Amino acid sequence: MVAIIGAGVSGLTCGVVFAERGYRTASFAEETGQQTTSGAAAALWFPYDAEPAEKVIPWALQTFDVLVDLTHVPASGVSIIELRQFSRTREIQVPDWAIPLGARPVIASEVEGSRGSFKSGFTLRVPLDCVFGGTNDLSSDLAVDAAATDQIIAECSRVLNIDKPNILAERVGLRPFRKSGVRLERNELRDGRTVIHNYGHGGSGFTLSWGCAREVVNLARL
Ligand SMILES: Cc1cc2nc3c(=O)[nH]c(=O)nc-3n(C[C@H](O)[C@H](O)[C@H](O)COP(=O)(O)OP(=O)(O)OC[C@H]3O[C@@H](n4cnc5c(N)ncnc54)[C@H](O)[C@@H]3O)c2cc1C
Repeated sequence: MVAIIGAGVSGLTCGVVFAERGYRTASFAEETGQQTTSGAAAALWFPYDAEPAEKVIPWALQTFDVLVDLTHVPASGVSIIELRQFSRTREIQVPDWAIPLGARPVIASEVEGSRGSFKSGFTLRVPLDCVFGGTNDLSSDLAVDAAATDQIIAECSRVLNIDKPNILAERVGLRPFRKSGVRLERNELRDGRTVIHNYGHGGSGFTLSWGCAREVVNLARL
């Protein structure tokens, strides 16, 4: 019997992987669904704001394969979108891990012509669930900031060259970033029971979900 604390993407994915391998599971959580950070995420596949890279990239690549498979299951809600990463200030190289996935650089003139103020970038087709935009500030404040909303709407509308859309809902989520990196490890409680920690995925909780869940289950079977 496995008890899972947390019903965000990390806990739920672990629950699925344990169940697929024949374990009885029970989930315990203070918040569920839209109340969780996972409910506020863009849920785009992309390794971002999570450490350490030497573990994050393999977890992310395992997750990529599962999510691509899930695009064939309409009820999963997973689709594929062209991700574009641009920089206003510096030349960005296509990351090594992205090359086998089909990433291609976008040349400066292409970026200039279509986007106005970006210096360089690359594109890559990736799995997606999605919101209109977000910010990246160090904060523990869960209150909606009207100025940030206005800024997101204005910037996305300008870059996408669309009319300002109606706002359906605003959510604040805090990326669970740990300077010391994702904590994924096995410990023993004083009474001999096993506890496996799996948290601190920063801006990559969806991107790492299946890779981390598989490692959690492997640790449980040691
Ligand atoms: C604006 C924004 C955009 C993002 N975009 C992306 C993206 O495009 N792609 C991506 O991969 N990631 C993205 N992320 C990051 C991603 O959302 C998180 O890394 C991920 O949601 C973390 O999932 P989690 O399950 O670990 O935590 P959570 O979703 O926060 O879930 C934690 C669960 O644990 C429960 N819990 C916590 N403490 C207790 C307790 N003491 N007792 C009982 N239950 C407890 C909570 O109630 C909840 O159910 C984004 C985040 C934000 C904020």
